Amino acid sequence: MSNLQKEDFSAWYIQTIKQADLMDYSPVRGCIIFKPDAFEIWEHIQEAFNRRFKEEGIRNAYFPMLIPESYFTKEKDHIEGFSPELPWVTEAAGEELEERLALRPTSETMIGNAYANWIQSYRDLPMEMNQWANVFRWEKKTLPFLRTSEFLWQEGHTAHETEEEARHRTMRMLTIYQEVIESLLAVPVYEGQKTPSERFAGAVDTYSVEAMMKDGKAVQAGTSHFMGTKFAEAFDIKYLNRDNEHVYAHTTSWGVSTRLIGALIMTHGDEQGLVLPPKVASRQVVLVPVGPWKKNPEIMEKLSTLRDGLREKGLRVIIDDSSNSPGFKFNEWELKGVPMRIEFGPRDLKNDQVMIKMRDLSEKESVPLDDVLSYIPTALDNMQTRLLEKARENRKQHEYTHINTLDELKEHIEMKKAEGEVPGFVLAGWDGDPETEAKIKEETGFTTRNIPFDPPVKKETCIVSGKPAQYTIWLARAY
Ligand code: AMP
Repeated sequence: MSNLQKEDFSAWYIQTIKQADLMDYSPVRGCIIFKPDAFEIWEHIQEAFNRRFKEEGIRNAYFPMLIPESYFTKEKDHIEGFSPELPWVTEAAGEELEERLALRPTSETMIGNAYANWIQSYRDLPMEMNQWANVFRWEKKTLPFLRTSEFLWQEGHTAHETEEEARHRTMRMLTIYQEVIESLLAVPVYEGQKTPSERFAGAVDTYSVEAMMKDGKAVQAGTSHFMGTKFAEAFDIKYLNRDNEHVYAHTTSWGVSTRLIGALIMTHGDEQGLVLPPKVASRQVVLVPVGPWKKNPEIMEKLSTLRDGLREKGLRVIIDDSSNSPGFKFNEWELKGVPMRIEFGPRDLKNDQVMIKMRDLSEKESVPLDDVLSYIPTALDNMQTRLLEKARENRKQHEYTHINTLDELKEHIEMKKAEGEVPGFVLAGWDGDPETEAKIKEETGFTTRNIPFDPPVKKETCIVSGKPAQYTIWLARAY
């Protein structure tokens, strides 16, 4: 069997998402259609985050998509960062608009303006809201889910009395990202701070969670920004503090996007197609009647009872009673990444058992009918845990901490290429100079992912200059 995933990971990715019927292209470059199987993954992601946000006391709101140009020009760094990627509406109802309107790339400006009106005194703080929305960034290079020109995301925006509170919110949301991405999507992430060159336009500090895909490349899975008083100054978010003084609020913002769907696919998918962690799978269990089942009505009866019992337990279950052959069905549900397949035919009926095949294991197992209702939830939980462990193991194998110079990094990249292996994540010392960082990118294509809070090793010297390292950073090629 050819091994497309190893030989041409990008081709494998496109083939996998097409075969699993997750998306289609649209006439506009970089804008994709999220088909129901992908959208439902997104809905489960939304559910999990909404639960966590609400536990934090953060509720959802919705702000308009069209943003007047004058709003954008208020924060200098913000407009500089985003203007190359903005699409504009210049005409409506056949007439040119007096002021052109941007399709939002993010809503700091719109929400900043609203917060300025809503926040008067310290009693109005903290003000914390989230919105689920589509945003537009005219990306030069696009890839379904991972980098699209229009994408779906959540963006949280908060304003606080003190720097300390705002910093606490920034870090708290990063932790929530890490926890949800690891527990729901079974994708392990590295938490850390972005270097100034990778900072969000207008932020004081940006933090990220970074994931390693099966081809060793990085995906920035989520970001959390501390804005200091920069946006408050630009939008005049001032309040009367406890000492009766008018002062600026400290703000934060944080977001994850439909990029997570791509990260999930590239973390768990295999040669047979998609592998979905049970917690996000739209169908967790597919029941497939096998053998001459149509002649024996008892087979469908038992399967229907099993389906109902599992649904009562809150599981997402379907029966595939189409006229396709069992082999066809097995293949189809494997391509779509359904975590568990249950086969049941006349022989199983006689033996009072079902055959269970987990998507990520090669062997089938027979389970007595009497035990099956309690066996299945545990088996799905175990798969969820296994996928995270497997991803952690894979990540560990492609973390390199022994590289100390740029030449060693180049040799490492060449060597891995010759071995048909991925260059992965490389831990490096950095002197903090943006020029040395730029040089790494120029000469190797590796970029700084983040400055991990908890590096496996502390590097002593800069990989480029040999000077004492100020930071230990993760380097990788990135999507
Ligand atoms: P940002 O506002 O730039 O910090 O981005 C917030 C989140 O959206 C990050 O997790 C990014 O990884 C993700 N993101 C940024 N650009 C895109 C894009 N073009 N397509 C999908 N996700 C994106």
